[in-house]
Amino acid sequence: MKKLHPASSATLLPPAYGHLQLNHCKTVSCRNFGSMDEHNYVVQRSNPSRPTMICRECGAFPPVINNHDVVAEVSRLKLAQSSGLPACNNPDCRNLGLPVLTHRHLYHAFGYSGDRQRYRCKCCQATFVDRWSGFNGKHMVQQKLLAMLFTGYSVRDICRRQGMNPKTFYDQLSHIASRCRRQLSMFDARLFKHAQTLSLASDLKPLQPNSDNGVLWIATGEASSGYIVGQHVNYHPADVDNPSKDHDPYQNNTRFMAAPNAQLVEVPLPAPQGILARVDATYREVLARPNMEDPLSHLPRINYPTKGCLVRPQYTVYAHYLHLSQMLEYNESLSLFMPQETLLRSACISVFLNRIKDNSIHPLYVIEDKGWRHGQAAGRIDIVLMSWWRDRWAFTRHDDIGKGICHIGGEKDNEKKWLEIASHRAISEYQTRFHDQFSQLVNEPRRKLRPAGLLPLLDIYRAWHNLCRQDRSGLTPAQQVGLTAAPLTLEQLLS
Ligand SMILES: [Zn+2]
Ligand SMILES: [Zn+2]
Repeated sequence: MKKLHPASSATLLPPAYGHLQLNHCKTVSCRNFGSMDEHNYVVQRSNPSRPTMICRECGAFPPVINNHDVVAEVSRLKLAQSSGLPACNNPDCRNLGLPVLTHRHLYHAFGYSGDRQRYRCKCCQATFVDRWSGFNGKHMVQQKLLAMLFTGYSVRDICRRQGMNPKTFYDQLSHIASRCRRQLSMFDARLFKHAQTLSLASDLKPLQPNSDNGVLWIATGEASSGYIVGQHVNYHPADVDNPSKDHDPYQNNTRFMAAPNAQLVEVPLPAPQGILARVDATYREVLARPNMEDPLSHLPRINYPTKGCLVRPQYTVYAHYLHLSQMLEYNESLSLFMPQETLLRSACISVFLNRIKDNSIHPLYVIEDKGWRHGQAAGRIDIVLMSWWRDRWAFTRHDDIGKGICHIGGEKDNEKKWLEIASHRAISEYQTRFHDQFSQLVNEPRRKLRPAGLLPLLDIYRAWHNLCRQDRSGLTPAQQVGLTAAPLTLEQLLS
């Protein structure tokens, strides 16, 4: 066994960024849970690419993360989200990425540029133009293009039929994406304003399931309607200088990862059938990862994108929840359902630390067999403590179809209620439908190494899904959460 150095110096943990220190014990039942006092941990840095901190109380060993980089990642996500929207885009400004449309009080109207409104940021005085305030002259072309995309035409077919070259196609696509982000930002703001009580769900999937290109896609939405409130990918479309081969959380900008070497990993056994065995297998997989919070650290090889840069997924996921937590200022009670993934759990627990302590958040792992009827009452409930962490799972079944939940905030009753209502199905299906709807584009051989072309499509898809797509009962997710009275047409989406 390696010798552990006693904690003594003040620089053992990566420095906090402002008040943000994400390195702490993450065992909810531990006395040191959430403690940022370095004396409560043993930190071992003898292997720089794998530093560990060990809680002196419970022995847990959460991976170490760079706080500065998580904050920088939030800014990156915000800039991408507000790209093309009228918003301050000064990375050092408090108003970064807050659109005029929903944050009027932060800006002055500041004359015109042609027929377009100009604004000035009250905080940093930067000025910018609302590119979309004029008339959309490309309205008809864009509608046709969207209609063809959504009916499964390939990019080549669309270009041929519309007589446009691929560059024009992608330009139009990114214009449409900007318009979609503009529409969504207004609806999202309204949703969060009235969300004192809210149930959300997340899922994390590869953006291109057959590509092994390391691009993961996290989406979070309202749990029953599937209204998507945020989605992000750990891929930066521009090249980055000197991305790092090894993750060193004591170095800033470590989140940008270089193409890793191929590595030998054990061939995973076929997934077991029973639900309890599946949960157990997932824990084993997580414990076998070099970094438990980085699902990519356990891949034999990554088909690294030819342009742009991968971000270590833990940074994107922590940033995703930080971004979400900033939108939840009016929220008093939150449920958050997710698949069994240590990265989601750690990020959620660290970001919502204070809410876990005052019991105003209910984060839950959920696993369901195919065919589980959503909303049916639980049958007999079995409680099983699982894995190294002794997570407390509750399982139930009807005939041979099972479901399990684990309250990762530590609540010990109410299993019956959670087994009935907790589900991330609406979000998982949203992602699966994207893969099916655009399978041509998603699986195109060339596209596997060039994921950037899919980024505008993600914004368009989210807008269409939230505002236009009707489920079997004829309602859109936006209607189900009470944001709109009717589905939007493609024409309304683009105007
Ligand atoms: Zn502990
Ligand atoms: Zn500003």
